[in-house]
Amino acid sequence: MQYISTRDGNAQCSAAQAIVRGLAPDGGLLTPFYIPKLPRNALDEMKSMSYQHRAVYIMKQFLEEFSVKELTDFAAAAYGPEKFDTPAVAPVRQVNENTFCLELWHGPTCAFKDMALQMLPHLLSASLNKTEEEKDACILVATSGDTGKGALEGFKDVPRTRILVFYPKDGVSQVQELQMVTQDGANVGVAAVRGNFDDAQTGVKRLFSDRDMAARLAEKGYFFSSANSINWGRVLPQIVYYISSYCDLLRDEKIQPGQSIHVCVPTGNFGNILAAYYAREMGVPIDKLICASNANNVLTDFIRTGVYDRNRAFYNTSSPSMDILISSNLERLLLALTQDNEEVKEYMGQLAASGRYQVSDRVFEKLTKRFRGYFCDDAETLRTIRKVYDEYGYLIDTHTAVAFSALEQYRAETGDETPVVVASTASPFKFCDSVLSALGESQIASGLDALDQLAARTGQPVPAPLARLRDKSVRFTQVVDKENMADAVWTVLE
Ligand SMILES: *Cc1c(COP(=O)(O)O)cnc(C)c1O
Repeated sequence: MQYISTRDGNAQCSAAQAIVRGLAPDGGLLTPFYIPKLPRNALDEMKSMSYQHRAVYIMKQFLEEFSVKELTDFAAAAYGPEKFDTPAVAPVRQVNENTFCLELWHGPTCAFKDMALQMLPHLLSASLNKTEEEKDACILVATSGDTGKGALEGFKDVPRTRILVFYPKDGVSQVQELQMVTQDGANVGVAAVRGNFDDAQTGVKRLFSDRDMAARLAEKGYFFSSANSINWGRVLPQIVYYISSYCDLLRDEKIQPGQSIHVCVPTGNFGNILAAYYAREMGVPIDKLICASNANNVLTDFIRTGVYDRNRAFYNTSSPSMDILISSNLERLLLALTQDNEEVKEYMGQLAASGRYQVSDRVFEKLTKRFRGYFCDDAETLRTIRKVYDEYGYLIDTHTAVAFSALEQYRAETGDETPVVVASTASPFKFCDSVLSALGESQIASGLDALDQLAARTGQPVPAPLARLRDKSVRFTQVVDKENMADAVWTVLE
């Protein structure tokens, strides 16, 4: 299968090249030329398979130049018992009659980024060999918290890769910082940047486009690569869990073969919900895709009006992984809806120039046929955590709560009682301060003690990877000015 740039249908490359490059040279996103359809009885066939086996079956449809043996080894390493605390990997938990929660946080960093970042390193290092790339990958990540730790865990000790994560010194939670600075692995580096997330992100982009830097890097046998969600190797593993959840519902006889479901996804960069859209394109009977946003509701407006406008206030919310005004992966949806690279290029040009574009009537019609958009603020997020806990004894994090609020709004508006799969994207323990206050605790313990407080309050155990943070020693203390981020690169390459 060939991959094309969202902005140029003639720029074709293989899957391995798409994964190595990350981004197309024209700034577009590398995307499959077409979305393959699952064989007719595939869902029935996959019912009895393990998650790993389903992953091989589904990913193989997109990765012709990878053998089943290779993919089987990758899935075993990525989703095995040393990495995930449940053999189901991404279990579906029934919340009420027609609401099912797809728990995507049973991996080593307790957030859904693990689902893709445990797989991407295997795909990338195999792709380096397949494309006969002689240099090794030096992966740079700017993070506001979850992606950095997810990428470190995924890439630690992976052959032919080095990884360096930059986080804003005062912009991440204490748990998140500890998760990163205690990271083990011989090929990893972590540096704090004096500044905010934008400073770190801008600094990384500057390193990527610095020709001198690239030349010096090449002398050492490296090139820069990205583990961002624009890389196809991050979207693909996410398609798997939506298909897997449908298979689980079939297997457990919660739905009949062919029965439609909706999915509801807390959305930031649009990577997670895009994977659900692709699962639908492959043939899973997904009817509506409910896109849930926090106060940064640029996507809600887009879905309701067809106008994407990032010229608005930015809010720091209690669901920080969704605090984003430019949802990069929306570009791939635009290609799917327009089937026209020139039209996508035109919209992206307008976005770059004025921060705004309006899709054509034809595209808007297709968008509204499939997508629904809702948002909620922080007060509503906390109220939802409390409500879901009180009604169902089910504890959710702030991001997942935004999705539950969106679903509640959708059902109130439509009266539609179709079964819904809600993507649950983080363990509540990762955001325990907010969760504790949602549950009415007024005195919240500091640092890691808040983990124990939440465990005591709810009777649920602290996830092992977070509990282990107490025994870990700090390995990384480097703090750089945003102008000097290159220094950290040389440190990690030594
Ligand atoms: C990254 C993240 C999201 C947003 O996912 P996108 O793919 O960027 O839309 C939601 N919740 C959590 C916990 C995350 O870490």
